[in-house]
Amino acid sequence: MPDNKYYDILGVPRDASETDIKKAYRKLAIKYHPDKNSDPGATDKFKEITVAYEVLSDSEKRQIYDKYGEEGLKEGGAGGFGEDIFSQFFGGGFGGFGGRGGGGGRRGPRKGEPIQHVLKVSLEDLYKGKVSKLALQKNSKCGECNGKGSASKAPDAVKKCDDCSGSGVKVQLRQIGPGMVQKLQSVCPTCKGEGQVIREKDRCPKCKGNKTVQEKKTLEVNIDKGMKHGQKIVFPDEGDYESPDVIPGDVVVILQQKEHPLFQREGDDLLMTHRITLVEALCGFTFYLTHLDGRVLTIKNEQGNIIKPDDTKCIFNEGMPGYKRPFEKGRLIIQFEVVFPTKGQISAADFKTLEKILPAPKPNVKPALGPDGIEDEVELHDFDKSSAGQSHSQHRASYEEDDEDSHGHQNGVSCNQQ
Ligand SMILES: [Zn+2]
Ligand SMILES: [Zn+2]
Repeated sequence: MPDNKYYDILGVPRDASETDIKKAYRKLAIKYHPDKNSDPGATDKFKEITVAYEVLSDSEKRQIYDKYGEEGLKEGGAGGFGEDIFSQFFGGGFGGFGGRGGGGGRRGPRKGEPIQHVLKVSLEDLYKGKVSKLALQKNSKCGECNGKGSASKAPDAVKKCDDCSGSGVKVQLRQIGPGMVQKLQSVCPTCKGEGQVIREKDRCPKCKGNKTVQEKKTLEVNIDKGMKHGQKIVFPDEGDYESPDVIPGDVVVILQQKEHPLFQREGDDLLMTHRITLVEALCGFTFYLTHLDGRVLTIKNEQGNIIKPDDTKCIFNEGMPGYKRPFEKGRLIIQFEVVFPTKGQISAADFKTLEKILPAPKPNVKPALGPDGIEDEVELHDFDKSSAGQSHSQHRASYEEDDEDSHGHQNGVSCNQQ
């Protein structure tokens, strides 16, 4: 038994063309659009129509539906459809539209789009906490017309938007491949999704019918101890005012941590690199570190605790404070870089002394020669790690020079051909 529900909902036959489905959907969508229809069942009906349309307008989903019905779509992992199209329509999930009907319990005014702001903060701010002021320009409700765009009581002051036939939504179809059409739904630019426009002469003189005026607003952003890069702080309803039927969207502040010259943050841990000399590595040291709150830490390594290059140590409870639990701090992790003496810094006599005082190395015993009896003494060169695995150009070049001198060979002739 083929499942015919979606075709029935849209009132089209099973062999309906894409165009027929689109037409049927459009007609029903306008009829049941919750902004246009205040009947208690309209919202559910509209949702039902939309779900049916989303499946039947998508050739792939339609094929699956024709074969296996609704169940097939669920199994195929195509779940969650229906909601998508709603958010495309209304820019913010299914949450209700213009509460004009006054009936259907869950209906409330539509919520506007959120506005995002990036706020740059220092690691010190995230450690100590701070109140930051964020100045923004926003559209506020026009006081002159109380956000209605017109003070006129004339019945025809407000008329249906011609561009979207009053639906507030513009639908465009774009062919993206054979048999594949992408639906682009956007808010009608003419009426900004309201489905209606105000007659020119009835427009409010202050806001010119826009319902809003530009206003400067300063938000106080509480940066709490332990907040992280990328964390969002939401100011509900502080976004732009659109119309009396729309709740202004939220202002979302996104924290962006500036790089710190000394510390890197990893979760609640702080990472840093500290350079010590070879003497310090061997004989112990004390160093001072100014922390993010200005405290000076005295960090001591007792003699005998020898630090090797790249050794990592940590100090408990000197990392970042935890978010909402500022008394629990992470670790301060210190990676040590040992600076060795350079050529010429140690005299021959001192080397002798060093050889005496440092633990003696294991003697290097020369192995027996192979059958050819060949031994070579070779040289150690500095090595550029970034060139690892590449051609040994420097090495070959020296051979080639030799070649040229003795045999007049051309460049590129391999040295084992001589
Ligand atoms: Zn419109
Ligand atoms: Zn106004």
